[in-house]
Amino acid sequence: MNRISIPALSKQVQTEADAYLFMEELIWDGRPVCPHCAGVRKHYFLTPKAPEGRKARTGKVSERRVWKCADCRRQFTVLVGTIFHGSKIPVKTWLFVLVEICASKDGVAAREIERKYDLTPKTAWFMLHRLREAMTRGDGFTTLTAGTIVADEVFIGGASRRAKLARG
Ligand SMILES: [Zn+2]
Repeated sequence: MNRISIPALSKQVQTEADAYLFMEELIWDGRPVCPHCAGVRKHYFLTPKAPEGRKARTGKVSERRVWKCADCRRQFTVLVGTIFHGSKIPVKTWLFVLVEICASKDGVAAREIERKYDLTPKTAWFMLHRLREAMTRGDGFTTLTAGTIVADEVFIGGASRRAKLARG
């Protein structure tokens, strides 16, 4: 993957589904790997359905890209094993803030992120903290080094490590 800038990312990632797709290309190189059994044989993409029941009123179709493994029959998204997994913050926002951090020579201020992405002060601080920590640790799912996004070996290390990464 080439150097990615905020304008380049803005062009490529306009919706939450785009953000998932971007991550899939980055981590899987377009070919899904099941995080549960490491199966690569065949995966089915589950087309998002319109919400039912209480949520039906919103009429909003989920933009999460969910896959089902033909080997173990379990469902997964590209976020399993990454620090984005289980977060209520949109993947799209995570990606932009990550690139902001990496594109900035002098560091990114929480207030800047807060204003630019319409976040609460608490969320902006949390995101910066979480991303910096993952990058420093170097074993996060993605590290951006010298302007290049490098996908770490997300699915290596087993469930305990994945759980550890997914927490918090
Ligand atoms: Zn599987």
